[in-house]
Amino acid sequence: MTWRADILTLFPEMFPGPLGLSLAGRGLREGLWSLFAHDIREHAKDRHRSVDDTPFGGGAGMVLRPDVVDAAIGVALAEAPARPVIYLTPRGRLLDQALVRELAAGSGAVLLCGRYEGVDQRVIEARGMLEISIGDYVLSGGELAALTLLDACVRLLPGVMGAAESAAEESHGAEGLLEYPHYTRPAEWAGRAVPEVLLSGHHAAIAAWRRAESEKVTKERRPDLWARHETSRGGAGAIAGHPAAA
Ligand code: SAM
Repeated sequence: MTWRADILTLFPEMFPGPLGLSLAGRGLREGLWSLFAHDIREHAKDRHRSVDDTPFGGGAGMVLRPDVVDAAIGVALAEAPARPVIYLTPRGRLLDQALVRELAAGSGAVLLCGRYEGVDQRVIEARGMLEISIGDYVLSGGELAALTLLDACVRLLPGVMGAAESAAEESHGAEGLLEYPHYTRPAEWAGRAVPEVLLSGHHAAIAAWRRAESEKVTKERRPDLWARHETSRGGAGAIAGHPAAA
């Protein structure tokens, strides 16, 4: 079955957008995944087609109505019910590669893009939505967050990435490390040479150098990822806190 994404948005014309290009776009055209953008406004209940209203309790901005959003979700789920309904929100769980892998391994998702102040809490709860944030900053709408999440998932679907772009060794892989640096021709550029070992043809030495660079950059830039990596392999991080290491 094709991995299916249904987007609920006030701006369906934003899709597929960049996902219609490159590897994701080719995968879309080849039917490796499918995307349907639904206009939330089509589910408005009044003749003014209003989808939002002022917040109870006062305050700035508007809130998307639960009845309108719920009707849109119902239509999207009717096509393929066994999928998570995701609300993109800065209040959600931070998106990471583990969650991306989990979502990509399923049959797809329904993605709700908020606007204004967001969505009425009751429909989030009633539909058991999975709330996901793409980072600790605030966007003006959920559409770019949905595109980001989809891009990350779709590239992992079978057949979308060629062998040449394999995900095997990239950042946030099985070991939770950042990737080593890359170099290409010319071997010397602007007075800067490519690391000697990469020109040696010695595969084991190259693999060892890459591994060391990967560990170095992870330690320097992301001590949080490094600590997790060390704990998961029972290395220094875990041992450091153990009495035997004292
Ligand atoms: N009032 C909300 C808050 O403070 O949490 C922010 C609303 S934001 C202006 C409008 C919409 O953009 C949200 O409903 C959400 O769908 C989307 N959005 C904004 N930042 C996001 C983020 N970091 N991750 C995912 N979605 C985001």
